[in-house]
Amino acid sequence: MNVAPRRENAGTAIHCDRVDKSFGAHKVLDQVSLSVREGEVVAMIGPSGAGKSTFLRCINLLERPDSGTITVEGHTIDVGSDFSKKDLAALRRSVGMVFQSFNLFPHLTVLRNVALPQMRVLLRSKGEAEERAMALLERVGLQDKAGQYPARCSGGQQQRVAIARALALDPNVMLFDEPTSALDPEVGLEVLAVMRELAGEGMTMVVVTHEMQFARDVSDTLVVMADGGIIEQGDPQAVFTDPQHERTRRFLRAVV
Ligand code: ADP
Ligand code: MG
Repeated sequence: MNVAPRRENAGTAIHCDRVDKSFGAHKVLDQVSLSVREGEVVAMIGPSGAGKSTFLRCINLLERPDSGTITVEGHTIDVGSDFSKKDLAALRRSVGMVFQSFNLFPHLTVLRNVALPQMRVLLRSKGEAEERAMALLERVGLQDKAGQYPARCSGGQQQRVAIARALALDPNVMLFDEPTSALDPEVGLEVLAVMRELAGEGMTMVVVTHEMQFARDVSDTLVVMADGGIIEQGDPQAVFTDPQHERTRRFLRAVV
């Protein structure tokens, strides 16, 4: 894996500044700011409807915020002004995303699922893309599934293919939106194991999750969202053991 080791004085990988997003009259994100250092693992928790998914989608502009700026790897996009397709493409390329639903192409083999985006997005040759795909499938423990169709794989295997597919585009940052919540708990563990390894190798990650154990053990920073804002963030142990915000206490009582 070509992932930089975690560094103490690492630079900023992601900086979101005062991001606002409304759907109609419903303000879903209200002045949300977040910085993520290179190599940092941020776990994001909070009640359903808090705006976690919307915020994650705003980071790579799958959702366009109403105002604010998004800076990824030094490239800033001010969503209030016109930005070029080139800026958008550069941002998207440096941010990989893994969703709750894995969305693999059912008519393509596992290998093709991981190879094809590389050919489309990075213009890699078929040989090069398939070689990289095999290396990543091995990495997530699925080299023997390369020739299978997704329907022949378990949910956990499909999600690991989706992770390999995202990694194949060589992102600087990986966003995960509840990657295990559609899976049986024991199958979820194999996905979490892959994510733990990635984190250990220094990948910059923002992980929206209900897995409190993962958040506690793996993340460097725990972010709590509620009602469209970040209400609390800090060292995960500290937030879990001594939450400062009543809303955080209520949430943790309900889930832990
Ligand atoms: P979370 O991921 O924390 O559960 P979401 O970001 O999915 O929260 O949703 C935050 C709020 O925004 C919810 O009230 C949800 O109904 C609303 N919302 C999300 N996406 C849309 C959309 N495309 N159109 C209208 N409302 C939306
Ligand atoms: Mg969500």
